[in-house]
Amino acid sequence: MHISKLNRTFAAMSVSKKATMVLHRWNISLLTLCMAMLTVCCATAQEASSIYVETPNLFDKSDSYEVDFTNVASTDYTFPLPVGHVVASTPQSLEIETVKGDAVKSMFAGTVRLSRHIQGFGNVVVVRHPNGFETVYANNAQNLVKVGDAVKAGQTVAIVGGTNDRYYCNFSIMVNGNRLNPATIIDIHSHNLIKQIVVIKKAGSKVNVSTRLTPEQVRQREEKAQTISLDTNDPFQGKQFYRLNLDLISSDPNAWHYPLDNSHVISGFGGKRRHSGTDIKNGPGTKIYAAFDGKVVQSGVFSGYGKCITIRHRNGLETRYSHNSKNLVTVGEMVKAGQVIGIVGRTGRATTEHVHFETRINGRAFDSSYVFDHVKHTLQKGTLQFKKNGGVSRLK
Ligand SMILES: [Zn+2]
Repeated sequence: MHISKLNRTFAAMSVSKKATMVLHRWNISLLTLCMAMLTVCCATAQEASSIYVETPNLFDKSDSYEVDFTNVASTDYTFPLPVGHVVASTPQSLEIETVKGDAVKSMFAGTVRLSRHIQGFGNVVVVRHPNGFETVYANNAQNLVKVGDAVKAGQTVAIVGGTNDRYYCNFSIMVNGNRLNPATIIDIHSHNLIKQIVVIKKAGSKVNVSTRLTPEQVRQREEKAQTISLDTNDPFQGKQFYRLNLDLISSDPNAWHYPLDNSHVISGFGGKRRHSGTDIKNGPGTKIYAAFDGKVVQSGVFSGYGKCITIRHRNGLETRYSHNSKNLVTVGEMVKAGQVIGIVGRTGRATTEHVHFETRINGRAFDSSYVFDHVKHTLQKGTLQFKKNGGVSRLK
């Protein structure tokens, strides 16, 4: 408490000293010089007295710039109150509650642009950072830095304020004098920076802030989406859409295999007879290959299908091969893409030797030509989007 009083007195002293000096100069200066000085003084004075000011030269080179938060070292970022927790989050600010006497820390390294009492905010510190952001720490019991001070990430800039046993920092983030939603930048539960690229775009006197994933993050997400548990045949997992990136599969030549060599389609999916599969013709005795790695979930005789095999894949699909003369795999068996799983036949309701091949998602058959080019015997390109309530489309 003693230190706090002392500091406040010191701060008050240095302000009054400056004021005297300025007054002195005014007395001995000509009016024109006075006016010139006033302009210079006011620019800095405004920066040191008003929270919402534009950052000089921020958009000089370009109307937009990016801040990469994907790889920020732990020493370059600190949550303002490491032991506090967010009790209120609005599009403008976070209210971070903590204990009496707790230290408020600068989020990134930077230079103190403002440190003073402002009506409605209490004691405020604003730190300007080289990444173009400014961080605002308000409702402080005491500011411990002064304008122009260089601060490191994690350096204490103030002591948290409050009354009646409720102590909190009102924290906000600005770009060019505009507050942005702190939750865009910070995960308010873990207190970590969100690993992403933040795109800042000038829009008149305002700024637009958007975020995007890095190409590596996009790839990781897609890969994760394509490793659906083999215990479920529902890749939607509560969502309305499921996306399957075929390019990701075809990038690994061992990850897929066309079901039948030297074959051709004799009857496509759908049509008048509402065909649930694609009939692929080849002679008796031809080998049937698993289309992708997976787990056999069906192998036996199923009415009209005759001898039939169904395999569940980590990419969310199931494939079915039927009218076989022989099934070479059993339920529960793990198979590799390109592994021989059966032999072509005409068991069940079939008038000629062929494989009735189905691609299925969430228990529903869809046209396998979305997945395979049945002429070239290759995997199709692009990303498929499946709707939970049925329907598949190829994303452009
Ligand atoms: Zn068929």
